Order: sequence, then structure tokens, then C-alpha cells
Amino acid sequence: MTTPSSSRLPPRIVVLGTGGTIAGTATGDPSLPGYTAGVLGVEALLKEVPALGSLAEIQAEQVANLDSKDMTFAVWTRLAERVLHWLVQPSIQACVITHGTDTLEETAYFLSLVLPPDKPVVLTAAMRPATALNADGPQNLLDAVRVAAHPEAHGLGVVCVLHGVVHAARDVAKISTHAVEAFSSGERGPLGEIEGQNLRLWRQAPQERGGPFSLPAAEAWPRVELLSNVAGADGAVVRCLLSNPAVHPRLRGLVVAGTGGGTVNRELEAALEAAAAQGVRVKVASRVGPLRGGDDDGLSAVKLRVRLLLELAATEAPRRPPMETPAEGVAR
Ligand code: ASP
Repeated sequence: MTTPSSSRLPPRIVVLGTGGTIAGTATGDPSLPGYTAGVLGVEALLKEVPALGSLAEIQAEQVANLDSKDMTFAVWTRLAERVLHWLVQPSIQACVITHGTDTLEETAYFLSLVLPPDKPVVLTAAMRPATALNADGPQNLLDAVRVAAHPEAHGLGVVCVLHGVVHAARDVAKISTHAVEAFSSGERGPLGEIEGQNLRLWRQAPQERGGPFSLPAAEAWPRVELLSNVAGADGAVVRCLLSNPAVHPRLRGLVVAGTGGGTVNRELEAALEAAAAQGVRVKVASRVGPLRGGDDDGLSAVKLRVRLLLELAATEAPRRPPMETPAEGVAR
């Protein structure tokens, strides 16, 4: 229920910039494809969308400015801390994050596992750099803020808004290297869409089991490698990992993007069994797409790895001290 006074106040939303093509600039002629991701600051992106002012009172913060192919656990940690910093403040309704498309689905799923699910966190991105004549970033940013500011977004948790479509963090995946409609929620379908100025939600956000996980301390992130089952796979990669003293002490998990319904070559399977016998957690997904059923229902291989990282980190010492509730309005 909204009170008469609160209904007059525009929602307060924090937009956190992390880089990506949405903040990219052309390296030459803007009509040509060459560009560098993660160049412009988030303030510059916001300036290009004056209509945002009619939707919300916006505050901006630059958390990083990178090509998301270079995403690190340190940036993930910083991002989660900053989102939490803002969301615990009662006057902040939601956070929007600008990000690269390459690892968007991993960051979104990571955040969905470590953040409380009540206030919305909306990630957006672009397939064309900010300097392109037909840039898709400004509309995506406007759509993301529209979703974040919408009363029905409360309880959605972490979602991705791209090309007018709202995807759950658990389901979203990049499926095209070139199309502006580059993301899909697979068989489950998206959560909703933006129709003109309205948000239409078709289903509830999927619930995550066991969360929210605590954020691992810098030294508590385990090593979890992702392998694929392919013709000729013989387990040599697994044996190399186990015998390499620079890797082995921190190797806690292996995720395999198996063939079909999660099958692996006999020789690779034997190597994985040997790894499991040495205490390495082994999880099998499918390189075709999310597998149905079981505890990991609907998780792609990259997301299964994110989940395993946090599950394993939760068993490592030392743990990160609980996050302090900051004073209202304090920015760092
Ligand atoms: N390489 C870019 C990134 O992920 C691609 C993009 O944003 O579309 O940062």
C-alpha cells in the first residue's frame, strides 16, 4: 500500500556502472564494428537518457569499468558489497547495474545467490557501443530503470532487462554473438516484458534453494574449473590439474559440460572419479543447455560453477565478517 506522501516521491534508484559494450566507444568510424568496451563512465551513460528523470531520482556509482570477459571475483565482491550498501537503506527502492553481455548471466546469478531477494536488482547491457549510430544501450537503460522503479518489481530479486524483455537471473543466457536480441530464458521463458510504458509480468521469479550465501572473503574463493566433454576427451586435463602443485591445493570443484543429458566419455569419467576420490566436488551439466530435474534443475554449466563456488566457499575458513549496515546516504 502506498501512503499519500510516499506516492508523491519519485523512487530512488542507484545505477552502478561496471563497463561493457554499453559503455564502449568506437575505435574509428562509428558506423564500423571496431570498439573498446568499458570506456565511458556511468554518469555519461545516464546523460544520454534524459527521460530517466521522469521515472526516478537517480544516483550513480562507478564500481568498475571493464570488458566483462575480464570479470574477476574481486569485482563481483565489490559489486555485491556496493549493491547491499545501497539496498539496506530504506529510501533506496532498487539498484540497476550496467554490465557487459559476455558474463552478464554469471554476474546476475552470482548476485541472486548472495543478495536478499526483496528489493529488485536489474542488470542491463548492450550489443552495440554507446557511440554507434543505432546504439541499443540507452533504451535498455531506460527499460531497466522502468522495471526497477515499478511497484510490481518488488520481490523479483535479480533480473536482467534487455531488448524489452525481463529475464530471471537463473534462466538468462547469451545466445547470440551479434543480434541485439542476444538473450534468452530458454525453455522456461522470460519473466515478462515492457510494453510501451508498462511492465507485464507473466510468472514469478524462480526461488533459489539454500541462499542467500555469504560473500566469500578474498582468500576463501576456491578454484572450480569448467571442462567440456568432447570427442577424444581422455581425462588428461583432469589429471594435469590434480598433479599441478600450483593448482591442486585450491582445486575444490570440477564442473563438466557433458554431452546430451549430462554424459561423459568413459576415460574422462574415470579421471573425474579419481578427482572425486581426492575430495574434489564433481558436478555434471550439459553443453546443450540446462538439464531438467534434480537439485541443479535448469542450471547451465557456467551457473552450476557459480553455485558450486559459493557452496564450497561456505565451507572454507576464514569467513568474511558480517556486513555492517551503513548509515543512510553515506557513499564511499
Ligand atoms: N565484451 C563485451 C563485454 O562483455 C561484450 C558486450 O558487452 O556486449 O563487456
